[in-house]
Amino acid sequence: MSLLVVGSVAFDSVKTPFGEVDEVLGGSGTYFSTSASYFTDVSLVACVGTDFPQEHLTFLKSRKIDIEGIEKMEGKTFRWKGEYGYELNEAKTLDTQLNVFESFKPKLPESYKDKKIVFLANIDPDLQREVLKQIKEPILVACDTMNFWIEGKKDSLLETLKLVDILLINDGEARELSGEPNLVKAANKILSFGPRTLIIKRGEYGALMFKGGRIFSAPAYPLETVFDPTGAGDSFAGGFMGYLSKKMDFDDANIRKAIIFGSVMASFNVESFSLDKIKSLDYSEIRNRYNEFKRLTHFEALS
Ligand code: AMP
Repeated sequence: MSLLVVGSVAFDSVKTPFGEVDEVLGGSGTYFSTSASYFTDVSLVACVGTDFPQEHLTFLKSRKIDIEGIEKMEGKTFRWKGEYGYELNEAKTLDTQLNVFESFKPKLPESYKDKKIVFLANIDPDLQREVLKQIKEPILVACDTMNFWIEGKKDSLLETLKLVDILLINDGEARELSGEPNLVKAANKILSFGPRTLIIKRGEYGALMFKGGRIFSAPAYPLETVFDPTGAGDSFAGGFMGYLSKKMDFDDANIRKAIIFGSVMASFNVESFSLDKIKSLDYSEIRNRYNEFKRLTHFEALS
């Protein structure tokens, strides 16, 4: 079953203790759809400016991503600039230029309106709802956001959250959204905003899922080389939603597997700048790392 995503397509400038890149391909929609493309067909809704090079669109098409929903608008492409310190867990945003996204009024291609699985990647919550209302009968809606929107458009974000089944955010965002420093209390409060399932990504400490009073915990893959965490959250979401979309069965076992596939995709993503690592993986590498996660977390039950 194919998956629809709305999110940013961007030029990112990123500095980490291990290097620096300027205006490379990024954006929540880009990372998400590239990651999900290993599991299912993906249709992307976004906009870019006239400065966006054809080579990036050609790359998305090469991953079999449907880009009919990317509108080329007069003006400049979205730009984001961020920096990470040695602990690499949280980006410090230095600059956000929404550019063409400021006036983007998405009008979905007809073929997009029948999609059943929807991911509202990190973007203006008004835009997230604008896209969602054009989908006829979605059966699973998931969403991401970030501090920029929690601080700048909280009321609108809360409206979006009433419409989603699964929310994926990082620990800092969960604390900020709920106003609760304790993650378990934060999760319970966020679940009262609408989503039935909450996944909190914790960078190198893994991910936690809260659903129906139960908690599932997954580790992050212990990597020797972490170059750039940018896009880790989006590639996690791409692996997670891509797997669920492929299975079309959202029982707890599949959701747990999807969380591990999300962790696998995030672990590949952080091994390089931009999309360098996840743009050309082999599915056998993904399966192998999934199996390594299984070994990593196995322990015996008490007899
Ligand atoms: P993450 O997966 O959280 O590391 O997301 C990183 C991506 O989010 C970068 O490629 C940025 O282009 C994109 N991004 C940063 N700020 C925003 C924003 N306010 N709205 C949409 N996308 C953003």
